[in-house]
Amino acid sequence: SHLKKYFPIKTGLLNRVVGHVKAVDDVSFGIRAGETFGLVGESGCGKSTLARVMLNLKKASEGEVRFGGRSIQRARSRELRELREEMQIIFQDPFGSLNPRFLVRDLIGEPLRVHRKMTSKEIDDRVVELMELVGLDVSRRNRYPHEFSGGQRQRIGIARAIALNPSFIVADEAVSALDVSVQSQVLNLMMKLQKELGLTYLFIAHGLHVVRHISDRIGVMYLGKMVEIARSEALFDHPLHPYTAVLLSAIPQPSLQKKTGRIILQGDVPSPANPPSGCRFHPRCPSAKDRCRMEEPLLRELASERQVACHFPLE
Ligand code: SF4
Ligand code: MG
Repeated sequence: SHLKKYFPIKTGLLNRVVGHVKAVDDVSFGIRAGETFGLVGESGCGKSTLARVMLNLKKASEGEVRFGGRSIQRARSRELRELREEMQIIFQDPFGSLNPRFLVRDLIGEPLRVHRKMTSKEIDDRVVELMELVGLDVSRRNRYPHEFSGGQRQRIGIARAIALNPSFIVADEAVSALDVSVQSQVLNLMMKLQKELGLTYLFIAHGLHVVRHISDRIGVMYLGKMVEIARSEALFDHPLHPYTAVLLSAIPQPSLQKKTGRIILQGDVPSPANPPSGCRFHPRCPSAKDRCRMEEPLLRELASERQVACHFPLE
Protein backbone atom coordinates (compact mmCIF):
# COMPACT_ATOMS: atom_id res chain seq x y z
CA SER A 1 0.00 0.00 0.00
CA HIS A 2 1.13 3.49 -1.00
CA LEU A 3 4.44 2.15 -2.27
CA LYS A 4 6.99 4.63 -3.50
CA LYS A 5 10.47 4.11 -4.83
CA TYR A 6 12.41 7.28 -5.59
CA PHE A 7 15.99 7.22 -6.86
CA PRO A 8 18.04 10.35 -6.11
CA ILE A 9 19.58 12.18 -9.07
CA LYS A 10 23.01 13.44 -8.07
CA THR A 11 25.19 15.93 -9.85
CA GLY A 12 28.58 17.66 -9.73
CA LEU A 13 31.54 17.08 -7.50
CA LEU A 14 29.53 17.51 -4.34
CA ASN A 15 27.12 14.76 -5.30
CA ARG A 16 24.28 17.14 -4.58
CA VAL A 17 20.82 15.61 -4.92
CA VAL A 18 19.04 17.69 -7.53
CA GLY A 19 15.89 15.64 -7.91
CA HIS A 20 14.39 12.19 -7.87
CA VAL A 21 13.39 9.64 -10.44
CA LYS A 22 9.96 8.61 -9.24
CA ALA A 23 10.11 5.04 -10.52
CA VAL A 24 7.16 3.91 -8.40
CA ASP A 25 4.94 6.71 -7.15
CA ASP A 26 2.23 5.79 -4.67
CA VAL A 27 1.04 2.41 -5.91
CA SER A 28 -1.54 0.38 -3.97
CA PHE A 29 -2.91 -2.97 -5.05
CA GLY A 30 -3.36 -6.55 -3.91
CA ILE A 31 -2.66 -9.97 -5.34
CA ARG A 32 -4.88 -12.84 -4.19
CA ALA A 33 -3.53 -16.24 -3.19
CA GLY A 34 -3.54 -18.59 -6.16
CA GLU A 35 -4.12 -15.99 -8.84
CA THR A 36 -1.92 -14.73 -11.64
CA PHE A 37 -1.70 -10.97 -11.70
CA GLY A 38 -0.37 -9.61 -14.99
CA LEU A 39 1.51 -6.31 -14.87
CA VAL A 40 2.05 -4.41 -18.11
CA GLY A 41 3.38 -1.09 -19.37
CA GLU A 42 6.16 0.37 -21.52
CA SER A 43 9.74 -0.21 -20.40
CA GLY A 44 10.71 2.30 -17.75
CA CYS A 45 7.19 2.58 -16.30
CA GLY A 46 8.32 1.06 -13.00
CA LYS A 47 7.06 -2.55 -13.27
CA SER A 48 10.38 -4.21 -12.41
CA THR A 49 11.13 -1.71 -9.67
CA LEU A 50 7.70 -2.30 -8.14
CA ALA A 51 8.31 -6.06 -8.16
CA ARG A 52 11.73 -5.68 -6.57
CA VAL A 53 10.32 -3.48 -3.84
CA MET A 54 7.59 -6.07 -3.23
CA LEU A 55 10.25 -8.78 -2.85
CA ASN A 56 12.36 -6.53 -0.65
CA LEU A 57 15.25 -6.76 -3.13
CA LYS A 58 15.00 -2.96 -3.14
CA LYS A 59 13.95 -0.92 -0.12
CA ALA A 60 10.72 1.04 -0.45
CA SER A 61 11.13 4.81 -0.10
CA GLU A 62 7.66 4.88 1.44
CA GLY A 63 4.72 2.58 1.93
CA GLU A 64 4.28 -0.98 3.07
CA VAL A 65 4.27 -4.47 1.55
CA ARG A 66 2.26 -7.12 3.38
CA PHE A 67 2.60 -10.80 2.61
CA GLY A 68 -0.14 -12.95 4.13
CA GLY A 69 -0.70 -10.25 6.73
CA ARG A 70 2.98 -9.88 7.62
CA SER A 71 4.65 -6.55 6.95
CA ILE A 72 7.96 -6.84 5.13
CA GLN A 73 9.03 -3.42 6.35
CA ARG A 74 8.46 -4.38 9.99
CA ALA A 75 9.75 -7.97 9.83
CA ARG A 76 12.75 -8.92 11.95
CA SER A 77 15.66 -10.73 10.30
CA ARG A 78 14.47 -14.29 10.94
CA GLU A 79 10.96 -13.52 9.71
CA LEU A 80 12.46 -11.75 6.73
CA ARG A 81 14.44 -14.88 5.83
CA GLU A 82 11.24 -16.93 5.95
CA LEU A 83 9.47 -14.38 3.77
CA ARG A 84 12.36 -14.42 1.27
CA GLU A 85 11.98 -18.16 0.85
CA GLU A 86 8.26 -17.72 0.19
CA MET A 87 8.90 -15.21 -2.61
CA GLN A 88 11.05 -15.92 -5.64
CA ILE A 89 11.79 -14.28 -8.97
CA ILE A 90 12.41 -15.55 -12.49
CA PHE A 91 14.28 -13.19 -14.79
CA GLN A 92 14.05 -12.41 -18.48
CA ASP A 93 17.48 -13.56 -19.48
CA PRO A 94 18.07 -17.04 -18.15
CA PHE A 95 21.57 -17.01 -19.63
CA GLY A 96 22.59 -13.82 -17.87
CA SER A 97 21.09 -14.88 -14.56
CA LEU A 98 22.66 -18.37 -14.51
CA ASN A 99 26.34 -18.59 -13.59
CA PRO A 100 28.00 -20.15 -16.68
CA ARG A 101 30.66 -21.91 -14.58
CA PHE A 102 28.09 -23.87 -12.57
CA LEU A 103 26.76 -27.27 -13.57
CA VAL A 104 23.00 -27.34 -13.92
CA ARG A 105 22.67 -29.57 -10.84
CA ASP A 106 24.58 -26.99 -8.77
CA LEU A 107 22.56 -24.10 -10.18
CA ILE A 108 19.29 -25.75 -9.23
CA GLY A 109 20.66 -27.03 -5.92
CA GLU A 110 22.23 -23.74 -4.84
CA PRO A 111 19.20 -22.31 -2.96
CA LEU A 112 18.96 -25.62 -1.06
CA ARG A 113 22.62 -25.46 -0.07
CA VAL A 114 22.27 -21.87 1.11
CA HIS A 115 18.94 -22.11 2.93
CA ARG A 116 18.55 -25.71 4.04
CA LYS A 117 20.64 -28.08 6.07
CA MET A 118 20.61 -30.95 3.57
CA THR A 119 23.17 -33.61 2.71
CA SER A 120 24.51 -33.61 -0.83
CA LYS A 121 22.56 -36.84 -1.46
CA GLU A 122 19.34 -35.13 -0.34
CA ILE A 123 20.10 -32.13 -2.52
CA ASP A 124 20.80 -34.36 -5.49
CA ASP A 125 17.48 -36.19 -5.04
CA ARG A 126 15.63 -32.91 -4.82
CA VAL A 127 17.40 -31.62 -7.96
CA VAL A 128 16.27 -34.71 -9.88
CA GLU A 129 12.71 -34.20 -8.61
CA LEU A 130 12.78 -30.53 -9.64
CA MET A 131 14.17 -31.27 -13.10
CA GLU A 132 11.41 -33.80 -13.69
CA LEU A 133 8.82 -31.31 -12.49
CA VAL A 134 9.90 -28.70 -15.06
CA GLY A 135 10.40 -31.20 -17.89
CA LEU A 136 14.21 -31.25 -18.09
CA ASP A 137 16.19 -34.35 -19.00
CA VAL A 138 17.63 -35.52 -15.68
CA SER A 139 20.56 -37.26 -17.37
CA ARG A 140 21.85 -33.83 -18.44
CA ARG A 141 22.29 -32.47 -14.91
CA ASN A 142 26.08 -32.54 -15.17
CA ARG A 143 26.09 -30.10 -18.08
CA TYR A 144 26.59 -26.36 -18.21
CA PRO A 145 23.80 -23.87 -18.93
CA HIS A 146 25.21 -22.91 -22.36
CA GLU A 147 24.55 -26.47 -23.51
CA PHE A 148 20.80 -25.84 -23.15
CA SER A 149 18.41 -23.93 -25.41
CA GLY A 150 16.76 -20.67 -24.34
CA GLY A 151 13.54 -22.40 -23.36
CA GLN A 152 15.42 -25.08 -21.40
CA ARG A 153 17.46 -22.43 -19.61
CA GLN A 154 14.22 -20.76 -18.58
CA ARG A 155 13.13 -24.15 -17.18
CA ILE A 156 16.39 -24.26 -15.18
CA GLY A 157 15.54 -20.80 -13.82
CA ILE A 158 12.07 -22.00 -12.88
CA ALA A 159 13.42 -25.15 -11.17
CA ARG A 160 15.76 -22.94 -9.13
CA ALA A 161 12.91 -20.60 -8.24
CA ILE A 162 10.66 -23.38 -6.92
CA ALA A 163 13.44 -25.29 -5.12
CA LEU A 164 12.53 -23.85 -1.72
CA ASN A 165 8.77 -24.38 -2.13
CA PRO A 166 7.81 -20.72 -2.43
CA SER A 167 4.18 -19.65 -2.64
CA PHE A 168 4.70 -16.44 -4.63
CA ILE A 169 6.74 -16.06 -7.81
CA VAL A 170 7.48 -12.94 -9.83
CA ALA A 171 8.13 -13.65 -13.49
CA ASP A 172 9.84 -10.50 -14.79
CA GLU A 173 9.62 -10.63 -18.58
CA ALA A 174 10.31 -14.34 -18.12
CA VAL A 175 9.20 -15.32 -21.62
CA SER A 176 9.82 -12.06 -23.51
CA ALA A 177 13.12 -13.18 -25.05
CA LEU A 178 11.77 -16.53 -26.29
CA ASP A 179 10.24 -17.48 -29.65
CA VAL A 180 6.46 -17.55 -29.67
CA SER A 181 6.21 -21.37 -29.73
CA VAL A 182 8.74 -21.76 -26.91
CA GLN A 183 6.96 -18.95 -25.08
CA SER A 184 3.71 -20.90 -24.97
CA GLN A 185 5.50 -24.05 -23.80
CA VAL A 186 7.02 -22.17 -20.88
CA LEU A 187 3.68 -20.49 -20.11
CA ASN A 188 1.98 -23.90 -20.11
CA LEU A 189 4.63 -25.23 -17.73
CA MET A 190 4.09 -22.28 -15.42
CA MET A 191 0.33 -22.84 -15.39
CA LYS A 192 0.84 -26.54 -14.68
CA LEU A 193 3.17 -25.75 -11.77
CA GLN A 194 0.70 -23.20 -10.47
CA LYS A 195 -1.99 -25.87 -10.21
CA GLU A 196 0.28 -28.55 -8.79
CA LEU A 197 2.13 -26.38 -6.28
CA GLY A 198 -0.54 -23.79 -5.48
CA LEU A 199 1.58 -20.88 -6.66
CA THR A 200 0.64 -17.24 -6.93
CA TYR A 201 2.21 -15.27 -9.78
CA LEU A 202 3.02 -11.69 -10.55
CA PHE A 203 3.60 -11.86 -14.26
CA ILE A 204 5.39 -8.87 -15.80
CA ALA A 205 5.49 -8.12 -19.53
CA HIS A 206 5.57 -4.99 -21.65
CA GLY A 207 2.85 -6.18 -24.03
CA LEU A 208 -0.71 -7.15 -23.13
CA HIS A 209 -0.81 -10.14 -25.49
CA VAL A 210 1.78 -12.04 -23.40
CA VAL A 211 -0.22 -11.83 -20.16
CA ARG A 212 -3.66 -12.26 -21.71
CA HIS A 213 -4.20 -15.98 -21.31
CA ILE A 214 -2.20 -16.57 -18.17
CA SER A 215 -3.64 -13.71 -16.06
CA ASP A 216 -6.74 -13.66 -13.90
CA ARG A 217 -6.39 -9.92 -13.43
CA ILE A 218 -4.19 -7.35 -15.11
CA GLY A 219 -2.72 -4.08 -13.86
CA VAL A 220 -1.52 -1.40 -16.28
CA MET A 221 1.28 0.96 -15.24
CA TYR A 222 2.23 4.28 -16.75
CA LEU A 223 5.13 6.40 -15.54
CA GLY A 224 5.27 5.04 -12.00
CA LYS A 225 1.49 4.89 -11.50
CA MET A 226 -1.07 2.09 -11.66
CA VAL A 227 -3.66 3.42 -14.10
CA GLU A 228 -6.06 0.50 -14.48
CA ILE A 229 -6.79 -2.86 -12.82
CA ALA A 230 -9.38 -5.28 -14.17
CA ARG A 231 -10.14 -8.91 -14.79
CA SER A 232 -8.34 -10.05 -17.91
CA GLU A 233 -11.46 -10.60 -20.08
CA ALA A 234 -13.02 -7.30 -19.02
CA LEU A 235 -9.84 -5.40 -19.81
CA PHE A 236 -9.61 -6.89 -23.30
CA ASP A 237 -13.35 -6.45 -23.85
CA HIS A 238 -13.55 -2.80 -22.97
CA PRO A 239 -10.56 -0.94 -21.58
CA LEU A 240 -11.48 2.07 -19.45
CA HIS A 241 -8.18 3.94 -19.48
CA PRO A 242 -7.09 5.57 -22.76
CA TYR A 243 -3.57 4.21 -22.26
CA THR A 244 -4.89 0.65 -21.92
CA ALA A 245 -6.69 1.18 -25.23
CA VAL A 246 -3.38 2.18 -26.79
CA LEU A 247 -1.65 -0.98 -25.50
CA LEU A 248 -4.55 -3.09 -26.78
CA SER A 249 -4.43 -1.50 -30.20
CA ALA A 250 -0.73 -2.41 -30.44
CA ILE A 251 -1.52 -6.13 -30.39
CA PRO A 252 -1.08 -7.48 -33.91
CA GLN A 253 -4.39 -9.28 -34.18
CA PRO A 254 -6.95 -8.40 -36.83
CA SER A 255 -10.07 -9.02 -34.71
CA LEU A 256 -8.94 -6.60 -32.01
CA GLN A 257 -7.75 -3.95 -34.43
CA LYS A 258 -11.11 -3.90 -36.14
CA LYS A 259 -12.67 -2.58 -32.97
CA THR A 260 -10.28 0.25 -32.26
CA GLY A 261 -7.74 0.53 -35.06
CA ARG A 262 -4.13 1.04 -34.19
CA ILE A 263 -3.67 4.11 -31.99
CA ILE A 264 -0.32 5.80 -32.46
CA LEU A 265 0.85 7.80 -29.46
CA GLN A 266 2.18 11.31 -30.00
CA GLY A 267 5.44 12.29 -28.33
CA ASP A 268 7.97 10.37 -26.26
CA VAL A 269 7.53 8.87 -22.82
CA PRO A 270 8.05 11.80 -20.44
CA SER A 271 10.81 11.55 -17.82
CA PRO A 272 9.84 10.01 -14.48
CA ALA A 273 12.16 12.60 -12.90
CA ASN A 274 9.88 15.38 -14.05
CA PRO A 275 6.46 13.88 -14.73
CA PRO A 276 3.74 16.03 -16.36
CA SER A 277 1.30 17.85 -14.06
CA GLY A 278 -2.15 16.47 -13.34
CA CYS A 279 -2.62 13.23 -15.22
CA ARG A 280 0.83 12.02 -16.29
CA PHE A 281 -0.61 10.71 -19.52
CA HIS A 282 -2.16 14.02 -20.59
CA PRO A 283 0.51 15.16 -23.11
CA ARG A 284 -0.06 11.94 -25.09
CA CYS A 285 -3.71 11.20 -24.35
CA PRO A 286 -6.19 11.41 -27.25
CA SER A 287 -9.03 12.25 -24.81
CA ALA A 288 -7.21 14.86 -22.67
CA LYS A 289 -9.16 17.92 -21.52
CA ASP A 290 -8.23 20.98 -19.41
CA ARG A 291 -8.98 19.25 -16.14
CA CYS A 292 -6.39 16.56 -16.94
CA ARG A 293 -3.54 19.09 -16.86
CA MET A 294 -4.54 20.43 -13.45
CA GLU A 295 -5.80 17.55 -11.40
CA GLU A 296 -4.25 14.14 -10.84
CA PRO A 297 -6.76 11.31 -11.31
CA LEU A 298 -6.71 8.76 -8.48
CA LEU A 299 -7.22 5.04 -8.95
CA ARG A 300 -10.92 4.51 -8.10
CA GLU A 301 -13.37 1.65 -8.31
CA LEU A 302 -15.80 2.19 -11.19
CA ALA A 303 -17.50 -1.17 -11.00
CA SER A 304 -16.81 -4.40 -9.17
CA GLU A 305 -13.24 -5.52 -9.98
CA ARG A 306 -12.69 -2.45 -12.17
CA GLN A 307 -10.36 0.28 -11.06
CA VAL A 308 -9.21 3.14 -13.22
CA ALA A 309 -7.25 6.37 -12.73
CA CYS A 310 -8.80 8.68 -15.31
CA HIS A 311 -11.16 11.68 -15.20
CA PHE A 312 -12.85 10.66 -18.42
CA PRO A 313 -12.82 6.86 -18.68
CA LEU A 314 -13.71 5.36 -22.04
CA GLU A 315 -17.33 4.28 -22.59
FE1 SF4 B 1 -6.49 11.07 -20.62
FE2 SF4 B 1 -7.45 12.86 -18.91
FE3 SF4 B 1 -7.91 10.29 -18.52
FE4 SF4 B 1 -5.49 11.26 -18.18
S1 SF4 B 1 -7.29 11.77 -16.98
S2 SF4 B 1 -6.01 9.40 -19.23
S3 SF4 B 1 -5.38 12.78 -19.79
S4 SF4 B 1 -8.65 11.53 -20.23
MG1 MG C 1 11.75 -4.37 -16.57
